This record gives sequence, structure tokens and C-alpha cells, in this order.
Amino acid sequence: MLELTTDQRSEIMAHGERDYPYECCGLLLGRFENEGKKVCAELFPISNAREEAAKRNRFLIRSEELLRGEQHAAASSLDIVGFYHSHPDHPAVPSAYDLEHAWPVYSYIVVAIKSGQAEELRSWEMQTDRTRFVEEEILKGN
Ligand SMILES: [Zn+2]
Repeated sequence: MLELTTDQRSEIMAHGERDYPYECCGLLLGRFENEGKKVCAELFPISNAREEAAKRNRFLIRSEELLRGEQHAAASSLDIVGFYHSHPDHPAVPSAYDLEHAWPVYSYIVVAIKSGQAEELRSWEMQTDRTRFVEEEILKGN
């Protein structure tokens, strides 16, 4: 379960639209609560700071970007609770590539951008045996 505010949801969609036809990506900073619930407190957009060549790559957050996000999170007493990225002209379902590059515990939001317009936003969690993603519920936060 992931708690996301309406503003955060719109922000992720807007980021995906802005970076279209490239994939956008960013971190979800927040807290791990009981029973696998995560609360997103802040977004940490990454891809709009990238150079042209990197934008063409598929969703992959580089170690220096992750480190910058971790430092920012720690300064606000938050944790990285997940990641978000867009699928330009593809459904909001993680790809085999996404599965290969994912870790358990985190939330993976995928936002589908069709012809430059955000269509659908879904969140996924990797099953503990790492064989597939299962969709998780998005709760509406304040
Ligand atoms: Zn993907």
C-alpha cells in the first residue's frame, strides 16, 4: 500500500508529460509504516536534470543520482520508499526490464503517457521471490 496525495499524483503525471517522448523518473521519499504501508512525503524528480543521451535510456537511476536522493531524504529524516517512471505510449505496467532492475520492499509507480497526455498511474511492488510485480493499492493522503 502506498499513500500518495492528489498533488503528488498530479506532479508525477506532469513530469511524465513534460519529459515525453522520453521516460521520466524520480524517487518517492517518505516513511515505511506498519504492514508494508508506505507514505510518500516528497517527490525527488531526477530525469529533467539529465543530459540528452541519458534521457534516451530506459528507466535506470544511476548510483550518483540515488546517492543525491538518499542525502536529501536523510536531511529531511525521510527514507526512499519507492521510484516512479513513465511509459511513453505504453501501458502503466512494469516491463521485464523494470523487473530486472527492481528490488523488493519499494513501490514502483508507472505512469502511462499517451501522445503526451498522462493517462493512467499505477503502483507496483515486487513479489518477494522476485519473479513478478503485483499491483499495490494507492491510498489518498492529505
Ligand atoms: Zn518501465
